[in-house]
Amino acid sequence: MRITNLNPATDIGASAWFVELEGHRLLLDAGTHPKREGRDSLPLYNLIRREDLDAIAITHCHHDHVGSLPVALRHFPKAHVLMPELSYFLIERVLHNSVNVMTRQRDELGIKEYPLYSHDEVDEIAALFQGFRYNREIEWAAYHKTRAGAVSPTLEFYDAGHALGSAGIMVRGQKETLFYTGDVSFRDQTILRGARFDDVKTDVLIMETTRGDRDVPPGFSREAEIEHLTTALERVLKRKGCVLIPTFALGRTQEILALLALLMKAGKLRSQPIYIGRLGRAFTEIYDLEAHRAHRNHSNLKLTEALNLVVLEAGQVDKMRLSGGRIFVLTAGMMSEHTAAHDLAARMIGDERQAIFFVGYADPDTPGGRLKAAKTGATFLFSGSAGEVTRRCEVQDFDLTAHANREELLEFVGQVSPRAVLLAHGEVAARRWFEEQIRSRHPKIKVIQPEPGKTVEV
Ligand SMILES: [Zn+2]
Ligand SMILES: [Zn+2]
Repeated sequence: MRITNLNPATDIGASAWFVELEGHRLLLDAGTHPKREGRDSLPLYNLIRREDLDAIAITHCHHDHVGSLPVALRHFPKAHVLMPELSYFLIERVLHNSVNVMTRQRDELGIKEYPLYSHDEVDEIAALFQGFRYNREIEWAAYHKTRAGAVSPTLEFYDAGHALGSAGIMVRGQKETLFYTGDVSFRDQTILRGARFDDVKTDVLIMETTRGDRDVPPGFSREAEIEHLTTALERVLKRKGCVLIPTFALGRTQEILALLALLMKAGKLRSQPIYIGRLGRAFTEIYDLEAHRAHRNHSNLKLTEALNLVVLEAGQVDKMRLSGGRIFVLTAGMMSEHTAAHDLAARMIGDERQAIFFVGYADPDTPGGRLKAAKTGATFLFSGSAGEVTRRCEVQDFDLTAHANREELLEFVGQVSPRAVLLAHGEVAARRWFEEQIRSRHPKIKVIQPEPGKTVEV
């Protein structure tokens, strides 16, 4: 099979893999690069624009995996779009929200290329979307059968435990198989249960490596981390400070809300309103409505009923009084500019009563990453619009990741024993760690780090 890495950059970037298998062509994911702007954020679709694509399969609805789908479909208007059924309930909201964000960025940052697609376009392509249950074989090339009697390759979604509707994708041809992990969590989160990749065996593996550059500290446990978070919340609320937890709207927000709901139920946290954003609210409702379809814990826990969720309207965070101990769970996780989390953080940073608690990854080149790195009392450039600020607020980092740890992924490589592994979705140092480890532990497995735009024959 031939695989082309369409990520335009060498970092985590935008996920998009072009796969040619036994005469059929498939695109796995159609993301955008979160740190790039305009067309530079797109995968290298030009490289495959002359190809005849049968289908596009989506692992999950985070922007780095699905944000450029309407652009991909402009190149391949006949391609069917396949995704896990739970993603089917989310994807249109995600794409419409993208249009809104890009439109705002055009107006506020002057990025003339934005939006890269329109609301109408999202509505038009929606008819191509198909949702499938996990662990069902789907004939993805059947629509374009060219040779009479040729047997079509299949694909199958495996629950990846990362966010609602997330999947790894198994592609099966007549002679060989490919498995793409997407983003994966092997461990249970508060709501979602861990990935169900137990029986995965494959010839070729494309694997995420997000956490390849960080070790799990000795004695670490998620439970202990939750205890630390609980104590820290109590401490800040007691001094009448506010707590901001910056998160992704899909996945992280609901996991944190579930945690807060359980703490309140157990009497470990005073019952009080939780302030969230509009998109976070929309996805939270879908988590509730689709609870019966998801492989999850606390399936009777309805977040919208268990919590007093207060949705903040645009601009409201600029005016709210920051006293009396409020809890905010707001996007964006990395505090990119012109988001509620960014604007609220800008107000909180200089106030020692306030606290900002990170619960996920923040790239060092983002406002969130710079805040994480700033020591108390240090003056640093938070963002273009907020300028230089002096950090007086409390900042903590809690490891409640939705990504597999590197040791778990290494174990997974051993389990599937592929003939080749393509390292994906990680910074250079993270991929290097995996390459060294796999080479020493599994010398027979070929390790490939395909560069942007490069096609590898495996
Ligand atoms: Zn993700
Ligand atoms: Zn991702």
